[in-house]
Amino acid sequence: MKASAVDGYPKGNKMKILIEGTDASQVNALRRAIMADVPKMAISKVMFTLGVNQDNNRGEIFESVNALPDEVIAHRLAMIPIPTQPDEGMAFPDECENCMDLAEEDKGCPNCQVLYTLNVQGPSADSDEPYRVVRAGDLTNVSDPLFDISEEMKSIPITYLAQGQFLEFIAFATLGRGRDHAKWAAASAVTFQPCYEAELKKPKKASVLFDLSLTTSDGRPIDAKLFSNKKCTDISTVLDIEKALHQVGHGTGRDADFDEAILLNKVDGSFVFSFETDGSLAPEAVFNIAIEELKSRFSDLGEDFGRAFA
Ligand SMILES: [Zn+2]
Repeated sequence: MKASAVDGYPKGNKMKILIEGTDASQVNALRRAIMADVPKMAISKVMFTLGVNQDNNRGEIFESVNALPDEVIAHRLAMIPIPTQPDEGMAFPDECENCMDLAEEDKGCPNCQVLYTLNVQGPSADSDEPYRVVRAGDLTNVSDPLFDISEEMKSIPITYLAQGQFLEFIAFATLGRGRDHAKWAAASAVTFQPCYEAELKKPKKASVLFDLSLTTSDGRPIDAKLFSNKKCTDISTVLDIEKALHQVGHGTGRDADFDEAILLNKVDGSFVFSFETDGSLAPEAVFNIAIEELKSRFSDLGEDFGRAFA
């Protein structure tokens, strides 16, 4: 198996990878590993402060009532991408050396959890603002600054606070895997498809497509210039051609004139693999960790077989 990033990727959190010399079952194992096995951080426990607060300066009363139930706020917190630092050696709560033998309620130490606090009040009674939006950026990280909520995630809204309301809690983020809960899934839209080469079979009839003035995703016109020696092998371009072919395919009324003027030929053993991370981890890191997870699983399997046959 050989993997290489498709030209132009990663694009932000999006990744496209050409995987060669393999088969669909292996690539699917990789897909499953990315969805279910790559560990990442997510908020998994929240302790809300309940009650009434008095603002010392003004004597104003704020209450811990909210438009949203605590469960919904906890769920929204779980969905906020928490920077995951695979090299920092964070432990899974169940495997943490310090906490392994402790009772469930005592578990949690700097080695296996990251703490965030939030304390926000709604607008005061004489304010013109009817409400205040609480955002991910209002979370204060009280652990290592490495785990500060990233700039691009700070605008994620959590809830509204009206006048006289406050929201206060401590949130604990832990390492987990997507197979246990979706909040720990490192990437979404994990897909793959066979890798194709486009072949310009009938240049004259292909004008049915070329005359539609379609463009590739990077703005080049879809025409004969994309082909050299009647072939196009650039992966991104072939994907654009594949999309454009829907305009002249079955049911468009153009298919008879087009007459399969451009063919897509499968490249044996090659696949285009794509996914998008939620921003907790870089796409390259997700891919590398998935490979490591698979490797370790298969060596474990080897040992199991050894034992079974002994
Ligand atoms: Zn611990």
